[in-house]
Amino acid sequence: MLQTELRTHTCGELTLKDLGQQVVLCGWVQRSRDLGGMTFIDLRDRYGITQLAFNMETHKEQCIKARQVGREFVIRTIGKVTERSNKNTKLPTGEIEIVVDTLEILNTALTPPFTIEDHTDGGDELRMKYRYLDIRRNPVREALQLRHKLAMETRSYLDKQKFLEVETPVLIKSTPEGARDFVVPSRMNPGEFYALPQSPQTFKQLLMIGGFDRYFQIVKCFRDEDLRADRQPEFTQIDCEMSFVERKDILDMFEGLIRHLFKTVKGIDLPSLPHMTYAKAMKLYGCDKPDTRFEMTFVELNSTVKGKGFKVFDDAGLIIGICAKGCGEYTRKQLDELTEFVKRPQIGATGLVYARYQQDGTIKSSVDKFFNAEELKKWSEVLQAQPGDLMLILAGEPNKTRKAMGELRLEMGNRLGLRNAGTFSCLWVIDFPLLEWNEEAKRWFAMHHPFTSANPEDLHLLEDDPGAVRANAYDMVVNGVEIGGGSIRIHNKETQALMFQRLGFTEEEALEQFGFLLNAFEYGAPPHGGIAFGFDRICSLFGGVESIRDFIAFPKNNKGRDIMIDAPSKISEEQKKELHIILAPI
Ligand code: ASP
Repeated sequence: MLQTELRTHTCGELTLKDLGQQVVLCGWVQRSRDLGGMTFIDLRDRYGITQLAFNMETHKEQCIKARQVGREFVIRTIGKVTERSNKNTKLPTGEIEIVVDTLEILNTALTPPFTIEDHTDGGDELRMKYRYLDIRRNPVREALQLRHKLAMETRSYLDKQKFLEVETPVLIKSTPEGARDFVVPSRMNPGEFYALPQSPQTFKQLLMIGGFDRYFQIVKCFRDEDLRADRQPEFTQIDCEMSFVERKDILDMFEGLIRHLFKTVKGIDLPSLPHMTYAKAMKLYGCDKPDTRFEMTFVELNSTVKGKGFKVFDDAGLIIGICAKGCGEYTRKQLDELTEFVKRPQIGATGLVYARYQQDGTIKSSVDKFFNAEELKKWSEVLQAQPGDLMLILAGEPNKTRKAMGELRLEMGNRLGLRNAGTFSCLWVIDFPLLEWNEEAKRWFAMHHPFTSANPEDLHLLEDDPGAVRANAYDMVVNGVEIGGGSIRIHNKETQALMFQRLGFTEEEALEQFGFLLNAFEYGAPPHGGIAFGFDRICSLFGGVESIRDFIAFPKNNKGRDIMIDAPSKISEEQKKELHIILAPI
């Protein structure tokens, strides 16, 4: 019998085709309206909202009960699907209502600390503290549904390509390279610690040696870093590795994955991904993850502007210009804003030179004292500026200037509305440097990680010019965000040992930390390579939102705390003793 079922339908599915049916619905009270003769309740569940109608004349008892339910009460109702006189065309269920015979209160609820609406009045911290209420809201639920869909489609694509999903351990060994580890004390091994994986890197390589050939895992990774909006101490990767492959095979396979995700989840046919070298990305965009939704690429102006007595240019290692289309009429105030922008400590430029190409064909610059009309005309030719455009120029030490201009370019992209979250521009950045000099530590660090192989053409440079060696590494970049990166690995013991040596490890240190891998390379290691994608970032990119937090069911705040369960927290003296932990007094 219908009435004995806890529910027969969800709150998102009943329409005019169900008229006359007796149904049982369960859910939360979104809101109620008491109009005297009638009381209405909007009943909500994961699937939608259905209006319940209570009639004071015909169902007095139920109607009185309905007036007593508060927001977020959990109720069960039995009633008949009826056509609404006052239709709401915005809701899929908006043409019907349930005329209720029976109302049962399954549970009461306190008034929520913020409104359970699409635009809530709750601040970030409050929403995180009551995350179970926050995830009742449509935007958060939809974000998590999107994440589910992306995970399912990832598995489906990789499964079809014969990848095996293998779980790797979470309690592993601390390694010095990369970010800081989270560590876990071992009770059974006094004074020793596990580390939580920053990535399953070495395990996936061991799986290749084990003959698994194609591996993937949607896996939690942990890095004890300072947090930003797009970082969490625990985050999820789509981690992949393949055997018997060259770079091209990996790029093709994972271009296939991203195209599959765009097609199935967003209905977008992505064009094939261009390949851009790291060197070109730095030269044209000033960063290794260029936002290619718009042009405005860098033009180097050293030979155009030096030698005219303007010291800032004459002393500069690099002078770069960009042309902002249609900004030639920028006001003094707007130009001052841009100057302030580039002078902010995070950007670090000392000043901004501009030249406005006015509609009447004249060019007015901030350095008219040093450059005459003819010279400014030359700038406009080099920068391909037309009347109505604005030329922006930065000068200084090359790396700093590239970085600052990269930021200014993005700022201009924002101002001109060229960075629309609904437009996607994906590319591969390839040929990264293998090594990076760290001035503080006075040694080379692996730019990707120490298991990355060098471009064979550059191997001869490793001794004398290590900084010039290109890695067989690649990043996938979408809209200025690095969503994945990987490399073809070293698969031979001698080369790996040499790499550790280059990175300043003694032989003992290398053996102690990575002996298991070096040994494994001696038992038939196939050539292999792989990639890992930041899954949370992919979700936020697909969701068109900058922060990854809403795509994580229970995120941490920017101090790394879960303020809902209040973690991290102190442990008892007894626990500490058992774990052999003696803490210095703070
Ligand atoms: N393990 C690397 C990372 O987490 C990715 C890779 O090389 O596959 O960045």
